[in-house]
Amino acid sequence: MQRIENYIDGNLQSAVSGNWMENIEPATGLCYSEIAESDSADVDAAVAAAKSAFTGWSESSTEERSSILLRIADLILDNLEDLARAESIDSGKPLSTAIQVDIPRASSNFRFYSSAIRHFASESHAMDGQALNYTLRTPLGVVACISPWNLPLYLFSWKIAPALAAGNTVVAKPSELTPMTAYMLAKICSDAGMPPGVLNIIHGLGAKAGQSLVEHPDIQAVSFTGGTQTGAQIVKTVGPEFKKLSLELGGKNPNIIFADCNYEKALEATLRSSFFNQGEVCLAGARIFVERSIFGKFKQDFVSKTESLRVADPLTANCQLGALVSKNHLDKVLSYIELAKEEGGEVLTGGARVRLQGRCEHGFFVAATIVEGLDADCRTNQEEIFGPVVTIMPFDSEDEVVAYANSTRYGLSASVWSENLGRCHRLAHDIQSGVVWVNCWMVRDLRTPFGGMKQSGVGREGGFEALKFFTECKNVCINLGE
Ligand code: NAD
Repeated sequence: MQRIENYIDGNLQSAVSGNWMENIEPATGLCYSEIAESDSADVDAAVAAAKSAFTGWSESSTEERSSILLRIADLILDNLEDLARAESIDSGKPLSTAIQVDIPRASSNFRFYSSAIRHFASESHAMDGQALNYTLRTPLGVVACISPWNLPLYLFSWKIAPALAAGNTVVAKPSELTPMTAYMLAKICSDAGMPPGVLNIIHGLGAKAGQSLVEHPDIQAVSFTGGTQTGAQIVKTVGPEFKKLSLELGGKNPNIIFADCNYEKALEATLRSSFFNQGEVCLAGARIFVERSIFGKFKQDFVSKTESLRVADPLTANCQLGALVSKNHLDKVLSYIELAKEEGGEVLTGGARVRLQGRCEHGFFVAATIVEGLDADCRTNQEEIFGPVVTIMPFDSEDEVVAYANSTRYGLSASVWSENLGRCHRLAHDIQSGVVWVNCWMVRDLRTPFGGMKQSGVGREGGFEALKFFTECKNVCINLGE
């Protein structure tokens, strides 16, 4: 059986303890590989390797770092089919999604930051002949990058690429549920000429390997994407140490549809924002609010489009909805469907596990589910489900829907559908979220700031924001007088 090893100081190796964990294929429910179960001993070795590689890497030229990142970007594309297949098997997502979205985006992340670091400049402030200030930006040292399972290589690379570009060395931990493509990235980095110790990858449980990593005294900064509860735990750990911290956390995003929208576009995008990647997207439009005058028609059309989505073996070409990532997650999503019913919701379609025949008979599949008839403040509408389950409800006015949109503890993203320009600007201003999409969903420009308000996160990734996070800034003030 294939073994997923740690990558430390340029070498692939098992955990110091010699322990292995099962890696389950969500579409079959069967173990198909084993993961190194790391603990503090492995983290110590990885941090030590990163620490000794820091001087060489941080003092290498921008051009050299940029060239290595570019080679990684190219090698990811050269290996697109293998990486996409691995991602689909590991996570349960349709192979087509991994081919079209996950792996190309992982390559783009490296390509983008190989270029961005060449354009990263700092500020200068002149004081009328008296003094000149300029800002120096230097890498932090050894940083930790921790990522979730829903977009495995996509989000892993989104953190690593800017950290490395800025001259830091990295100890990274992918999710224990989807470690395979991070493991494959190790070889790609070596092939691209990354010096040993610059990037180290530790596998294993969050509470053990992840916790040891964020606790390590030589870690200068933590960039984390994952659940809000885990984010709170990390804040408790690193807060008293005053480590730099970037948190990208959960969401419960509103999708707001006015009667004056481009109806067909809104309908198509709503299908995608609800069920793309089985709804396992932090940006999913989990709460759909539709202006009352078109509510009945929209609901009917949306249900009928949803019923045409094909749940199938993720490796087959006709799969539109794959498996959920784990048995635990399947149980969580099913429990929220039960909760929705207890809270008085009516399941318009879906609402149950799907049993496929053959290879996938034990897979973790759930039908795309739409629930109607719930209040905005019930638990189903307040808590992140992170699966193919959305709620739909009518609204009558702008003020009312803005209040619904802002009623959760989250504030990651929102979509607004209307052809009324003034209204779109008003809502974009009033909605409490880090990203507002107007007449679109999940359109991403890597230069833009990305992150959440409220309990969806702290700080922003993307563009120069990430390079600022991964550098320390120092103001130098030069006296221009006598
Ligand atoms: P999670 O919080 O369970 O795990 C995320 C990562 O943290 C994993 O690698 C895990 O091993 C590690 N971890 C767990 N406990 C840790 C600890 N004590 N110390 C250090 N590391 C620890 O999240 P998940 O279930 O993998 O991902 C789903 C969540 O991620 C959802 O809430 C989703 O909204 C969120 N998410 C957010 C974004 C965003 O950009 N805001 C993007 C994708 C996913």
